[in-house]
Amino acid sequence: MPGATDAASQPAIDGWWSHDETGSPHLIGGKCTECGTYVFPPRANNCPNPACDSDALEAVALSRRGKVWSYTENRYAPPPPYPSPDPFEPFAVAAVELADEGLIVLGKVVEGTLATDLKVGMEVELSTEVLYTDDEGIERLTYAWRIP
Ligand SMILES: [Zn+2]
Repeated sequence: MPGATDAASQPAIDGWWSHDETGSPHLIGGKCTECGTYVFPPRANNCPNPACDSDALEAVALSRRGKVWSYTENRYAPPPPYPSPDPFEPFAVAAVELADEGLIVLGKVVEGTLATDLKVGMEVELSTEVLYTDDEGIERLTYAWRIP
């Protein structure tokens, strides 16, 4: 991942997002090689289209932008083993319809943007932020939607 990560910051989950040559983050999806159906999180097999029996999905970069389809606000820290910052701060979660694929992707909304700031149909773009700092002091990043 050129540019945007270094030894002190790593993705919390490998393989769900990457950065393009300008350093902008994008999600990685799976695209069926037969029918073109997209999935997220990415996987390499088992097309989700019931009318398609393909078992080959290729990894593709997904749209960086989309529209808010639904959203909510999480006011409770997730139970272990799910990592969360300490002290816990409420955060918004948005289901975003990706611009080109029409796929709806659930994700955190960047810190400081809460449900009152969001509207259905609003355009958002992909960003990344620190989810937590692990025991070795490495910042673990996650993808998050932000208002452009
Ligand atoms: Zn398919």
